Amino acid sequence: MKYPSEILERLVSNLSDLPGIGEKSAQRIALFLFRDGRQQGEQLAKVLQELQDKVGQCSICFNITEVDPCQYCSDPKRDQNLICVVEDTKDLLAIERTGGYHGLYHILGGALSPLDGIGEEELHIKELIGRINPDVKEVILATNPTMEGEMTASFLAQKLSGKGVKVTRIARGVPFGGTLEFNDMVTLSKSLEGRTSVE
Ligand code: ZN
Repeated sequence: MKYPSEILERLVSNLSDLPGIGEKSAQRIALFLFRDGRQQGEQLAKVLQELQDKVGQCSICFNITEVDPCQYCSDPKRDQNLICVVEDTKDLLAIERTGGYHGLYHILGGALSPLDGIGEEELHIKELIGRINPDVKEVILATNPTMEGEMTASFLAQKLSGKGVKVTRIARGVPFGGTLEFNDMVTLSKSLEGRTSVE
């Protein structure tokens, strides 16, 4: 055992399993929570429990939410004719920050990546197709401008063709290889505005 307490050791191990936290940081956080950060630790434990108990996914768009359907799906002021397809919740947040989009969303849960074993079944593609009805006029493919994102957009365009809905792809204002999340708002806004029809 590396630590004088098995519980402390478990905490360090759990923390270092988190993305972006190495063993040194994990150790520093664990010792802080034990010594000076008792109150923060208590709050952290509580919010982690609440996250497990109360936060889930929207059954329509797969956004993270505490109520189902989520705030976007249940907002009558949002344009019901538009569905913007993104890979992840962080992309939705990036688009929301631009303030220029007022339609609905669909979160795929990633992008197609055969090498990583992510195929059609691993993403919320079936559910997207199931959402297409005469009210939906346009599906905007806003997957990331990476190889996987482009492949996913082409795949979805094929799946959606002949379903009576216009399919568009965000413009190349977003540099290839980047992610929506890291793009500045002006670029993202422009690439949404400049979206072009995919046939
Ligand atoms: Zn939703």
